[in-house]
Amino acid sequence: MIRNFCIIAHIDHGKSTLADRMLQATGVVQPRDMKAQYLDRMDIERERGITIKSQAVRMPWEDENGVTYALNMIDTPGHVDFTYEVSRSLAACEGAILLVDAAQGIEAQTLANLYLAMENDLTIIPVLNKIDLPAAQPEKYAAELAHLIGGDPDDVLRVSGKTGEGVEALLDQIVRQLPPPVGDAEAPARAMIFDSVYDTYRGVVTYIRVVDGMLQPRERIKMMSTGATHELLEIGVSAPEPVPTKGLGVGEVGYLITGVKDVRQSKVGDTVTNLNRPADQQLSGYADPKPMVFSGLYPIDGSDYPILRDALDKLQLNDAALVYEPETSVALGFGFRVGFLGLLHLEIVRERLEREFNLDLISTAPNVVYDVVTEDKEVVTVTNPSEFPEGKILEVREPMVSATVIAPSEFVGAIMELCQGKRGVLGGMDYLSEERVEMRYRLPLAEIVFDFFDQLKSRTRGYASLDWKADGEQVADLVKVDILLQGDQVDAFSAITHKDKAYSYGVMMTRKLRELIPRQQFEVPIQAAIGSRIIARENIRAIRKDVLAKCYGGDISRKRKLLEKQKEGKKRMKMFGRVEVPQEAFIAALSSD
Ligand code: GDP
Ligand code: MG
Repeated sequence: MIRNFCIIAHIDHGKSTLADRMLQATGVVQPRDMKAQYLDRMDIERERGITIKSQAVRMPWEDENGVTYALNMIDTPGHVDFTYEVSRSLAACEGAILLVDAAQGIEAQTLANLYLAMENDLTIIPVLNKIDLPAAQPEKYAAELAHLIGGDPDDVLRVSGKTGEGVEALLDQIVRQLPPPVGDAEAPARAMIFDSVYDTYRGVVTYIRVVDGMLQPRERIKMMSTGATHELLEIGVSAPEPVPTKGLGVGEVGYLITGVKDVRQSKVGDTVTNLNRPADQQLSGYADPKPMVFSGLYPIDGSDYPILRDALDKLQLNDAALVYEPETSVALGFGFRVGFLGLLHLEIVRERLEREFNLDLISTAPNVVYDVVTEDKEVVTVTNPSEFPEGKILEVREPMVSATVIAPSEFVGAIMELCQGKRGVLGGMDYLSEERVEMRYRLPLAEIVFDFFDQLKSRTRGYASLDWKADGEQVADLVKVDILLQGDQVDAFSAITHKDKAYSYGVMMTRKLRELIPRQQFEVPIQAAIGSRIIARENIRAIRKDVLAKCYGGDISRKRKLLEKQKEGKKRMKMFGRVEVPQEAFIAALSSD
């Protein structure tokens, strides 16, 4: 008797805390072993209070007739960057608990996750959490939820992940309301991979949900998207510590280990089958996660380059969405062009590189991926402004998103103003209740990945929530702005921007560099240009700089020291034509504000 479910919620509505209470209520984690957000294992997850990787855990639960069920709970990541993993986790379940904070009500990711669950045909159990809070308004939000998914407000369960109130009743309802898994026990084995993590001791641990047939230890398995075959060294369930079993059958959720070292050989969304008796159809369509945002990553100390390369190799073992290739920059030296799912993914990767590998890094301004059509109709995919084709261009296409914003209705005007300023087009608007509104916009990804969310929060006093997903491309008036130092292009500072924003980017960058680059013995122009057209210009005035002149007549050892100091300084100097620039100036220009 199996029930597979996940908990879906807007961030901070209490998913991980409720999962903790369920682990306790079912007795799989003893109170003395309990720590908050038990399933969030990465340090960064604990510190930031977010779930990045999904995890599964099996819990026993006895119904009122004394029948024991195996409940498989699959925890899902909560952030938009990781939507792909959320949707894989959902595909491994028959049901979802839709958890809503009883003091907040429905938010943007509540809706986004609900729609994903509905696309996967899951049975949905609506639940209000945090009913212990004095500010909780369970009646009001039960009505909002019932209005959204149908049904009676009285059927909306009420729990507190903090006190544990209502958690046992919820477990009873999971057993009663969710359908059991169905599958063909006699068919060739098919199991879906919903997560894959690298473990230093055991290699890659792959989390699977068996749909048909049976997988057993020691047999050879095949990954259907790549055709790669492996020996199944161990198969088992997480309870929540790994417990090896003699096999996993229809509807069961657990892990498998093959000894591979790289998660890309065991990809989320892929189907595992038996090599001797393979299935002929994969489970749901498999798609590689697609990087949306690219940035150059450089070690501040150039001699750290090999450490950075090894660190990226190691992180990739555990993060199939991370892509990178070597890149060199005149201004910054040797580094990598790295692709991310979004800005949170970028921040997390950078933080892990700095923390786990003790690196000091500088990243160039992140950019999205553009398709540029040249005069001879060739389509060039640009992940780095420096790849932007020279010469005449027919059109430039940029990636778009459809975004949902939910906020109190008094902020409608402020939100419209913000979205219009970001080149957004309003698609529709619905009132969830008299005082709360859902607005749908189509916006360029480039406009929302940077500070959009912060601006949205500040204009709505923190009340608005945002969710978005990729939604095709549009042709737009985009140009590449180059920054020139005495006529030479400084590669790391080129940017692709909308035509209307090119001028302000040019002015901002040239000013910043004028302040940071030391004066030379001759005048140095700093220019911003679109092609050969100069759109902004600053000058660094000349000085007569002669270190030795300062100590005419002084003793010789002092002179020597000064010369040596000057030589030392030159090591990290970059030459642009005749202009010498300390690398620190470039680093400062990229890292400030
Ligand atoms: P998640 O982002 O959905 O996983 O949310 P968390 O489980 O990390 O919870 C977010 C915050 O809400 C944490 O500070 C929790 O302590 C708090 N929280 C969660 N459940 C409850 C509850 O039932 N009552 C109260 N008062 N606080 C809760
Ligand atoms: Mg969480």
